[in-house]
Amino acid sequence: MLQINDKGQLQDPRVRPAISPAIERGRLERVQGIVVHQTGGPTAEATLRAYRRGGNGAHFLIEKDGTLYQTASVHKRTQHVGKLRARCLAENRCAPGEAEALREMTPTERNRHEMRKPVPERYPSNGDSVGIELVGQALPLDEPDPDRRTYERVTEAQNATLKWLVQGLLLHFGVPRSEVFRHPVVSQKNVTEAETAQW
Ligand SMILES: [Zn+2]
Repeated sequence: MLQINDKGQLQDPRVRPAISPAIERGRLERVQGIVVHQTGGPTAEATLRAYRRGGNGAHFLIEKDGTLYQTASVHKRTQHVGKLRARCLAENRCAPGEAEALREMTPTERNRHEMRKPVPERYPSNGDSVGIELVGQALPLDEPDPDRRTYERVTEAQNATLKWLVQGLLLHFGVPRSEVFRHPVVSQKNVTEAETAQW
């Protein structure tokens, strides 16, 4: 089992403490899922530097060599998910008439509609999930359309660390494996983000 102290910090020699209070956003009451991301940056240091300034961020960061940093307390929310896609559309289980209504909605309206549902009827959100970032760029950098870039392959060392961390978090929080998602599944994002991540 993972050892997590009362401040929400993992107590394990594999985890390097690098918490940035600037990305923490109030209490995370209950973890119901995990969202896996890629940073778009070249190194962990670049992301750690950005996190110290604030803004969006996740709870963990995995360097290409598998080094694991904890960047936020698992008792605090961070902004890593964005507007939710409709889970019932992806899983073919919308209520009668709901699919048609969802297709007419703007992303903001769809997010509001989804957030009225409990997990697992909807995807996990910022308010109930842990975010894990894997260092990796979307290439080529000179492609102006972000959706036409392709994220770098996740390394074997990253996937090994990711497996260990996901397994530990699922056990600790009592979350089923079905509630771990790549970011583009949950939100409108470049579809190659974390595509090669394995857990
Ligand atoms: Zn992401």
